[in-house]
Amino acid sequence: MNSKFGKFVAFLVFLFLTVQMISAQEKINVQIVDGQNNHDWKGTTPVFRRILEESGRFAVDVATAPVKPHGDYQKDNPEAYAAAMEVYRKQMTEFKPDFAKYGVVIMNYNGDAWPEETKTAFEKYVADGGGLVIVHAANNAFGNWPEYNEMIAIGGWGGRNERSGPYLYWEDGKIVRNTEPGPGGHHGPQWEFLLDVREPEHPIMKGLPKSFRHARDELYDRLRGPAKNVTVLATTYADKEKGGSGRHEPQLMVIDYGKGRVFHTCLGHDPNPCKSVSFIITFLRGAEWAATGKVTIPVPDDMPGPDKPVMRKFD
Ligand code: ZN
Repeated sequence: MNSKFGKFVAFLVFLFLTVQMISAQEKINVQIVDGQNNHDWKGTTPVFRRILEESGRFAVDVATAPVKPHGDYQKDNPEAYAAAMEVYRKQMTEFKPDFAKYGVVIMNYNGDAWPEETKTAFEKYVADGGGLVIVHAANNAFGNWPEYNEMIAIGGWGGRNERSGPYLYWEDGKIVRNTEPGPGGHHGPQWEFLLDVREPEHPIMKGLPKSFRHARDELYDRLRGPAKNVTVLATTYADKEKGGSGRHEPQLMVIDYGKGRVFHTCLGHDPNPCKSVSFIITFLRGAEWAATGKVTIPVPDDMPGPDKPVMRKFD
């Protein structure tokens, strides 16, 4: 056997083993939690499911909380509303998703408080080493739940202010915690903003361009919270001309909570920006890292640079 041919055979064997290794990886079980949100959760959950399943790395379940009766029918029919609310409250006391059997839980929820038993199970799940992904308005949820606020590090609205913790942002090459008074959470009109990587060696960010353009989305700024055990992976300059804070605002973060790992993305206001490669790849790698502490999902060829966003087709 000549050496060229030998090398070729060796290469084929290597390729075969690599493919075997990837396909032999056990799928990570994911649970998406939705059902209440001032955002289009019925539109975004199917996009998340498709992104996760098409990666080949995840198996997806969805836990949908009881849907709250719409306040509108209070005006038309107060009795029917009261009856529907009674049913809803009872359903809500029975909302007990099984977190513990999943590698990662994805929060697409911004709604009413969960039953105490569910909150305790969720805290235990993350503290014991469960993975958690926080998407966009999930950081508006549960303003009065201290443990949740520790998991997400910073959030907006939901009564958040200086008592919730400092504003967190990037200035002169480092993270600043600013305790000045003021409300938590703000955004201007949507635009195609730029993400600047601040932790290029973190497994989620490794190999990504040092800045990349995101699809038209809502840019959160002035988030605040306990901001403990948090590493800011990427920020966006929230230009005042775009209605922003004039600061470099955290958009992608990781947080340690007990033995658990949390990936927090502020991106994803509606289904459209969730179909952009900037969202897809950080979301997938963030979810994999939250579940396993490692990232095997590669940087794709269509990863955008700083100039313009790249959209994937979802037919
Ligand atoms: Zn939004």
